[in-house]
Amino acid sequence: MHYVGRELNEECAVFGIWGHANAARLTYYGLHSMQHRGQEGAGIAVTDGKRIYDHKGLGLVNDVFDHEKLEQLNKGHAAIGHVRYSTQGGNSYANVQPLVFRSQKDTLSIAHNGNLVNAHKLKGELEERGSIFQTTSDTEVIAHLIKRDFSDNFIESVKHALSVIKGAYALAMLTERQLIAALDPNGLRPLSLGRLGEAWVIASETCAFDLIGATYVRDINPGEILIIDSDGLHSEFYTNHSNPAICSMEYIYFSRPDSNIQGINVHAARKNLGRMLAQEAPVEADVVTGVPDSSISAAIGYAEATGIPYELGMIKNRYVGRTFIQPSQELREQGVKMKLSPVRAIIEGKRVVMVDDSIVRGTTSRRIVGMLRDAGATEVHVRISSPPITHPCFYGIDTSTSSELIAATHSVEEIREEIGADSLVFLGVDGMMKAIGRDPALKNCGQCLACFTGKYPTEIYPDTVLPHEKEMLV
Ligand code: SF4
Repeated sequence: MHYVGRELNEECAVFGIWGHANAARLTYYGLHSMQHRGQEGAGIAVTDGKRIYDHKGLGLVNDVFDHEKLEQLNKGHAAIGHVRYSTQGGNSYANVQPLVFRSQKDTLSIAHNGNLVNAHKLKGELEERGSIFQTTSDTEVIAHLIKRDFSDNFIESVKHALSVIKGAYALAMLTERQLIAALDPNGLRPLSLGRLGEAWVIASETCAFDLIGATYVRDINPGEILIIDSDGLHSEFYTNHSNPAICSMEYIYFSRPDSNIQGINVHAARKNLGRMLAQEAPVEADVVTGVPDSSISAAIGYAEATGIPYELGMIKNRYVGRTFIQPSQELREQGVKMKLSPVRAIIEGKRVVMVDDSIVRGTTSRRIVGMLRDAGATEVHVRISSPPITHPCFYGIDTSTSSELIAATHSVEEIREEIGADSLVFLGVDGMMKAIGRDPALKNCGQCLACFTGKYPTEIYPDTVLPHEKEMLV
């Protein structure tokens, strides 16, 4: 189960802190600020320099940690944490991170955001060499690779493991003596470095820094490894083959509007996406409204650029929690709507532009268009602030089969008909890049566009791809 109304779901967020007496407590707050990236599990591992203590569980950060649990953990100077959305390996307790591997010599704890594309292959090879896996998560492969390296130099073993794994990984790792952060050579997922007094902080999103009062220092670079210990912070590149390609959907949809990625504020980027959409697809209408929450910034941009007033045409019910009993199909058909409610006074008798950030299966769009019509909209024009999603993502977003993607099998006109809109326009790929501040003329624009173009920034291994997907790879 995930947040209501989200058709695309992010795999996770990671957090790490070194050099603070309240390491576990700050990790808890950091994870809380990134709860939107994963709601199925949460965990914290902390070290006092002698051993690693951890606690994790299924559910939201608040479900997993209460005051007492946090007090028990709050005894170290360094910690890592993780919130999980399970695209890989399923949603069992064993897969909740950080994963902790204890041996006679030391303990290694790992938190991972992203998805490895060669995990299946590596797992098979490791099993042939005697490894036994306790989880179905691809993250465990990383630990086995590190432990199997048998080098006396732990950091060299980590670097070796990083050179073998392929795909998306923003990693936070903790031993009794070191905090390690690493990013894949494409930097597919965001990972930033911050400072809180003398302490170092790493987080998937900069909104975590704001919440704990830390200052943003810089983004961690593709192919970079940071080692933080009692000697301070040390940076190295474990590969010469980095090729920046951050996930476009981080700007469009996943990240919080108050986060900055590579110096670009997410809210500002989304507003620009809306402005660009207005240039590419203007329409005569009375009001512009955005699907809460992630599309509101783009809707504001669209409204600003067209001069059509922005209105709060839909309200999201914020209190549908994890344990809420969802209405049955029958009750839903009778009109029990838990996610969004239209503001009839705004919608009735109006020609409405409904801005959304993406269309995945089309079911949510169809419901929203129907809801706006039921509320009295005379016309509903749908504008999407991203290009059509035509290809699956193998990097940690749960669109791993194209059969789920309406744009993979339908033309824009067919989608319009399917969702019942008066008109439908998607933002073009070039317009999207320009709106985010990239140059579409560059061969390497710095962004992953694979779900729109089918051009994947990494090799895709046969085991990653379902047989019927293979012909879709460019
Ligand atoms: S394929 Fe799409 S969702 Fe996946 S990393 Fe690339 S841009 Fe992001």
